[in-house]
Amino acid sequence: MKNIVLLGATGSIGDSCLNVIRQNKEHFHLFGIGLGGNLDKAQQIAKEFSPKHIFVAESHIDKSHDLLKSYPNILNTEDELQGLIQDPSVDIIISAISGFAGLKASYFAIDAGKTILIANKESIVAAGDILMPLAKTKNSEIIPVDSEHNAIYQCFPPHIDLKEISKIMITASGGPFRKKTFKELSGVTLQDALKHPTWSMGTKITIDSATLVNKCLELIEAHYLFQIPESKIEIVVHPQSIIHSMVTFIDGSTIAQMSNPNMEVPIANALGLDQRLPINFEAINFSGLNLSFEPIPDGREIIFEIAREVCNKKGNLGVIFNASNELAVDAFITKKIDFLAIYKVIQRTFDHFSCSKVSTLEDIFEYDKQARIQAEKVIKSLH
Ligand code: NDP
Ligand code: MG
Repeated sequence: MKNIVLLGATGSIGDSCLNVIRQNKEHFHLFGIGLGGNLDKAQQIAKEFSPKHIFVAESHIDKSHDLLKSYPNILNTEDELQGLIQDPSVDIIISAISGFAGLKASYFAIDAGKTILIANKESIVAAGDILMPLAKTKNSEIIPVDSEHNAIYQCFPPHIDLKEISKIMITASGGPFRKKTFKELSGVTLQDALKHPTWSMGTKITIDSATLVNKCLELIEAHYLFQIPESKIEIVVHPQSIIHSMVTFIDGSTIAQMSNPNMEVPIANALGLDQRLPINFEAINFSGLNLSFEPIPDGREIIFEIAREVCNKKGNLGVIFNASNELAVDAFITKKIDFLAIYKVIQRTFDHFSCSKVSTLEDIFEYDKQARIQAEKVIKSLH
């Protein structure tokens, strides 16, 4: 029986994780959950799974909420979150908080030498230079949950020599605006951007998928997780979202991982560690299945150039890229800027900074702060 701490339990990945755990109760015990402030949903989860600990990030929690009757000692501070993650009874941490807010949890898990299932790609993008060496020192295993990265992980034979890899191909659905020219993006609304053709996900990542910045974050994530140069990572649009990524080896073989688009598949793979866990899934219907591949849509290559620069230069560039995107997405959601301005905010913020080395987590937080201030200025200038 493995004890799990699920951070981001009330979100979309949280839902999928709970579904996998629900179907494999003999293997997993939900030891703790973490969330932002959705106490109603936390209460439902607590009723079903009886976790020992609940961490709520929001500082002003409703003290009269029914959840507090069963959990009067709800964890609320960063130290308490770290204590929960470090608890010797905990085997697996699932990092599924959305955005940069998830970084501290990922850091605590890696620093504690735990097995961490990483959905929160922003942690790796912003702090890959800190987290990856730390994982090595602390002997922490990082297992990818993001469907593309979990696919690559599944395609890699055990003890792979990276020299044997010729190319990694990350697939992208292309999002709701795949067929639009760059110019046509000027008229799109928030509602249009939230209509993802193949995946159902949280709001931030859905907008990232519409801009294709999600794929840029994934390129950087893959570069860090698999220690593969960006020149060996290709992005290909695959509208059906059946192949989640492919690896080509130097002998000419390509291995692809496939499933219908359902996050429970990569989560079950990651949670199973060396074992295949049974889950209910809709099998691919191969008869009449057409798989197609296309280049990145018109005009959006520019954002990938920035992501590739992040991979090549690293240091503070990942955190700046991530912060500028988070601010831009937030400004788009709150209707302060239009869709195309998201690209401008990222580009202009990114251009404002030069590349510097980062040595500590504090450096990451400092650059995050500076990038947010700069992005806010750009957003104001675009009003
Ligand atoms: P959601 O917006 O659906 O959920 C976010 C979760 O994070 C919620 O549980 C929320 O709690 C919690 N949360 C937000 N802020 C904080 C905070 N400061 N402290 C603690 N908890 C917090 O996001 P998703 O589930 O879609 O995405 C989660 C992560 O997984 C993201 O990094 C995303 O990029 C990644 N991912 C998601 C995929 C998907 O299919 N959804 C696919 C691949 C990766 P509350 O609701 O209580 O506020
Ligand atoms: Mg993905």
